[in-house]
Amino acid sequence: MTRFKLLFFYVLFPMLLLAQSSIALQVLGSGGPEMGDKRASSAYIIWIDGKSKILIDFGGGASLRFEEVGAKIEDLDVILLTHLHIDHTADLPALMKASFFTRASGSLHLYGPKGNTFMPHTESFVERLFEKDDGAWEYLGDHLDGEADLQLKAHNIQETHKTKVIYTQGEIKISAISVHHGPIPAIAYRVDIGSKSITFSGDMNGDFHTLETLAYKSDILVAHNAVPKGTKGVASKLHITPNIIGQIARKTAPKLLILSHRMHRTLGKEKETTREIKKYYQGKIRFANDKSFYKVP
Ligand SMILES: [Zn+2]
Repeated sequence: MTRFKLLFFYVLFPMLLLAQSSIALQVLGSGGPEMGDKRASSAYIIWIDGKSKILIDFGGGASLRFEEVGAKIEDLDVILLTHLHIDHTADLPALMKASFFTRASGSLHLYGPKGNTFMPHTESFVERLFEKDDGAWEYLGDHLDGEADLQLKAHNIQETHKTKVIYTQGEIKISAISVHHGPIPAIAYRVDIGSKSITFSGDMNGDFHTLETLAYKSDILVAHNAVPKGTKGVASKLHITPNIIGQIARKTAPKLLILSHRMHRTLGKEKETTREIKKYYQGKIRFANDKSFYKVP
C-alpha cells in the first residue's frame, strides 16, 4: 500500500467519519387530530449531535412527548410549521410558556406558510397568539418585542412551486416547497445537515407534484398516512393515498420511508398500505409511533 493510501485509510478516513455530525429523527406525535388513538398530534424533532435543534410541527400532546424524550427548549434553533391546522400547532403556546423556566435565549426562528382567505399568515398567527395588547396570551408578548431573553421570530413562506432555501446555519440547510392540502396553504420541508437529509411532506395530497423535486434522494422521507387505499371525495383533496406515496417514493428513492400522521381510518391497514406502496417502491418502510427514533444512515 502506498503511503497516501495508508494515510487515507488509517488517518483521513476515520477523521472524516468523526467529523460527520450524528443526525437522528424522532417522532414526537405520530397521530392526526383525533382523540382516542393514544397518539400525540403531528410533531417531529431533529437531533444533531444529541441536541434537539429543529422542531417540525407541534400539535396537541407534543409538549409532553418533548419532555419525555429529553428535548430541551434552549437547544432549539428553528421551528418549521407545515401549516397552521390545530393538529400541527396547538402546543406552541405551551412551549413558549415553558421556555420561561429554562435558560433559553437568543432567536428562535419559526417558519410557516403565508396565509390566504382560509388561514392567517404565519407571522399574523404568532402575533394573534402572543402580541401585547391584543394577543390571546398577551402576557407572553415579551417574546416578540425584545424584552424576554428568548425571542420568537416568525417568517412567512410565500407559495412556491420551486424549491426555495429558507434557512442556512453552519452545516444546516432548510428548503421549502408548497404542497396541495385542499385550500390550506401548506409547505413541505427538507432539512440537509452536511451530507444527510430528511424531508417532511406535511399534510398534502400530491396534486402540485412538488414533493418529488424537494425530496429527491433524501435519506429519510416522512409521509403522512392519513387516508387508506381507495379514498375519494374531500379526504382525497386533503391527504395522500398509499398509491401516490408509493409513486413519489419511487421517484425520490429515500433510504427510509416513514409513515406518520396515522389515523383510525389507516390504523390496522398497515399490510394493505405497505402492499400499495411496494407496487412502486421496494425500499425500507416504517410506520411511526410516538417517540420512534431513527438514526439517519
Ligand atoms: Zn394534520
